[in-house]
Amino acid sequence: MTAAAMRLPPGFRKQSLEERRRQVAETYKLDDRDFAASRSPEMEDLADMMIESAIGVMPIPLGVATGFTIDGSVYDIPLATEEPSVVAAAGYAARIIGESGFETWSTEPVMQAQIFLENAGSAAEKRISAAENELKDSLDSHLAPLERRGGGFRGLATTRLPGLGLLQVDLYIDVRDAMGANILNTAAEALQGDLERLSGGHTLMSILSNQAGLRRAGALFRLPVERLARAARGIAPEEIARRIVLASDLAQESSERAVTHNKGIMNGISALALATGNDTRAVEAGAHAWSARSGQVRGLSRYRLQAQTLEGWLELPLALATVGGAVKIHPVSRATLGILGQPDSGQLSRIGAAVGLAQNFAAVLALVSGGIQKGHMKLHAARLAFQAGARGDEVRAVADRMAALKSYRLEDAAAALSRLRSI
Ligand code: NAD
Repeated sequence: MTAAAMRLPPGFRKQSLEERRRQVAETYKLDDRDFAASRSPEMEDLADMMIESAIGVMPIPLGVATGFTIDGSVYDIPLATEEPSVVAAAGYAARIIGESGFETWSTEPVMQAQIFLENAGSAAEKRISAAENELKDSLDSHLAPLERRGGGFRGLATTRLPGLGLLQVDLYIDVRDAMGANILNTAAEALQGDLERLSGGHTLMSILSNQAGLRRAGALFRLPVERLARAARGIAPEEIARRIVLASDLAQESSERAVTHNKGIMNGISALALATGNDTRAVEAGAHAWSARSGQVRGLSRYRLQAQTLEGWLELPLALATVGGAVKIHPVSRATLGILGQPDSGQLSRIGAAVGLAQNFAAVLALVSGGIQKGHMKLHAARLAFQAGARGDEVRAVADRMAALKSYRLEDAAAALSRLRSI
């Protein structure tokens, strides 16, 4: 029977997590050893509360990239990722950049929701603008907790969409340390009735925009070119610096290259977002939209040479929360925020910008100085060794042997493992 012909029984979602797990294992004839890894006694009540039809958890490696100097303080940065090179690359960049570290900045955490109205009359824009204070007051009960923390209502704007004729009403709220989706969606829905009355139209939908273009974070580093010597693989450091700048310009001109350049940045940022319980899709949607704001996808980071100093720079929308959603409800998120010294949202977003820039720097440096495959194949060899049955210290020994032989097939891993075990 094919998987498509198998069916979970009706009422599956109403069963207990344990029963759902049993039904899935039975229906799909799962290998007990594989499925066992989705068990987590500490996490199952939480998983069952967080999503519908939970059957367990998906464990992803959590690592720490150590020794980041950011605005004069040293951070160890927790990263959750399935990609082998991410933590290693971030730590490598942090070591090269060293104590001069990263300078970072962030804007106020203002998020935007949109109410789209159909058949709004021609005077709608003026009437909504004239009623802004009244509309703001109508949100008082929703926004009072934010206002007590220094956030709250930051304005309204209207735009008539030329193609469809819909009236777009943008609502701006400073959400402080939250990501803000529920706060914005609740407030936007609360305005619908008044906006319909003022415009004579009716609401098609109200929803947060993940563009988050007003809530940005950035980072830069300045690196004396001679510090590239340790990474230069026989190439003059000045030449490496020149190539990094050229690679940065390339990601401005070639959108195909820019997509991958930016994916590398998000390797770090999404791993931090996941490690801290943030909404990775929201962060990525905002970043990629920002990279295409000129009408073409361009690299989010830039590099330039100033005398004998290489400067790296990155800025992007970054709505990393330290409260709300899964953040702090998830025990791992509480632990990772602890590793970071309980940052607020602005600090966490600035750390995110630094780790994104570090990740990008490590990738571009490797690409222009001999390629990334050498490092990646070493990590790939460890996976093959594990697949071949190596465990503990054997994994590294088998991977080292494969690297020495420059041969990276599963058969090579199996041969290296049996050789090791026969010694
Ligand atoms: P939330 O609903 O948990 O609200 C945050 C809460 O934290 C508020 O009640 C607020 O009063 C409180 N709070 C305590 N201390 C605070 C502080 N210092 N700063 C700000 N608020 C503080 O969370 P949210 O951020 O409104 O929504 C995030 C969730 O919504 C995420 O799980 C996200 O995945 C989900 N979501 C996303 C989208 C989208 O991205 N389009 C849409 C819907 C829902």
